[in-house]
Amino acid sequence: MPEKNALRIVMIAAEAAPYAKVGGLGDVIGALPQALEKLGAKVAVIIPSYGNAADEPVLAEPCHDVPGFDVTLGDITEYASVFQTSMPESGVAVYLIGSRRYFERGGVYDDPLTGEGYSDNMERYVFFMKAAIELMLRLPHSFDIVHCHDSQAALIPGLIRENYGGEEKLARARTIFTIHNIAYQGNYPAEALDLAGISPHNFYPFSPFEFWGQVNFMKAGIALADEITTVSPTYAEEIQETELGFGLESVLRERSANLHGIINGIDYNEWNPETDPFIAARFSSTKLSGKAVCKREVLEYFNLGHGRDLKRVPLIGIISRLANQKGFDLIAEAIPAIVEMDLLLVILGTGQQYYNDLVSGFAACYPEKIAARLAFDNPLAHKIEAGCDMFLMPSRYEPCGLSQLYSLRYGTIPIVHRKGGLADTVIPYGGNSGTGFSFTEYSADALTQSIGEALSVYSDPPAWKKLMMRAMAEDWSWETSAGRYMDLYQKKE
Ligand code: ADP
Repeated sequence: MPEKNALRIVMIAAEAAPYAKVGGLGDVIGALPQALEKLGAKVAVIIPSYGNAADEPVLAEPCHDVPGFDVTLGDITEYASVFQTSMPESGVAVYLIGSRRYFERGGVYDDPLTGEGYSDNMERYVFFMKAAIELMLRLPHSFDIVHCHDSQAALIPGLIRENYGGEEKLARARTIFTIHNIAYQGNYPAEALDLAGISPHNFYPFSPFEFWGQVNFMKAGIALADEITTVSPTYAEEIQETELGFGLESVLRERSANLHGIINGIDYNEWNPETDPFIAARFSSTKLSGKAVCKREVLEYFNLGHGRDLKRVPLIGIISRLANQKGFDLIAEAIPAIVEMDLLLVILGTGQQYYNDLVSGFAACYPEKIAARLAFDNPLAHKIEAGCDMFLMPSRYEPCGLSQLYSLRYGTIPIVHRKGGLADTVIPYGGNSGTGFSFTEYSADALTQSIGEALSVYSDPPAWKKLMMRAMAEDWSWETSAGRYMDLYQKKE
């Protein structure tokens, strides 16, 4: 596509790696824009500037085109500073919106001291959304596509319709809303609309802005965006059903003609065992010897596996937010049976205090078999992906899941609950086919059985090696999925 006719897209989200990352959303916003750029689009990203934007790794400068400006939220006026940088080795412009009051603090969504969400998240993200729109109006060009991600950007389609429809810069823009996890909806008192400056006339039962007497940011995004996407085809089906729609299933069913499931890709520049700078030795499917070195490094780090023949004892890894969704209740129930098996388990995670205690309890009860690090540690995440034999992801539900895709690339065989994106990306083992192990019923027995099945194949090295080869040969790069987004952006109404 010639540069001057390039499709102009702006992505608005609460996270983008490497600037801010809590989970998969950060990975997606850090990689999808560059994949779209390779397909000829011009992409900009708007995120909050958490902490001090002059710090590494952001290296942002004050924005050349747009000086800071005031944003009003009801009676509050808060100054939005604007910083600018571009994504590594690309032309993707990144605009970071700073605020003393809302973003200069230690955490992204949650207070690191308590592991709970900040009490002013409603204000913080209404501020962010209004500032993002004001920034778009001040930039020297207009956008064809305004792509909003998750609840922290979900009011934007509604705000544009209600308050900015007459602005020439936004008049032609189509809005896309992507659901990365429908469990986090942004459910707030009606006051949120006053802060956003949306007329109270819009707040009545069953309106896009009303949900059981509250304002629900995600509902507004689903109801008012031109197109809605979510991050895997199976999850797109699941969220239209009662259990996993978390109350928004009927709103989604009403928009099913505009709801699309597009699986996430992964960034092979960052997650590639042949080039990964964080791991002890590089390896590939044709030269696997480095993987054993990586395994030794992980075991040394966690002080596990002394006196064991490392070729024989399977090492299972978990890297996860420690949250309800991720299946730790199931692991807790299954743990007595799991530790009876000949295996070692390492866990890297951080999150809710309840789960922090639970995971440290596993390690304290079974120090010979289980070790944990309760932190957010990206280099260690790479080492675990590279050094483990298997990766455990028993999520109760999983919109897409990225960790299992990294695992496939590193020949670390995933064991997963067959839900959402896990069902779409892990092909169950079947002798000469399959890339991992999965279980359907969400039960401790089914989980234990699946681990047992994996261990029995592991004890047959030629079969295991073939399984690793198949997993490593899979291609989950962004190219195909970015193409699907491009088709959607260019869809005729
Ligand atoms: P979710 O977005 O629900 O957290 P995903 O599997 O989509 O789950 O993405 C998780 C991402 O966050 C992966 O890149 C994973 O490596 C990373 N991650 C999760 N917890 C940690 C941690 N404690 N330390 C480092 N990286 C982590």
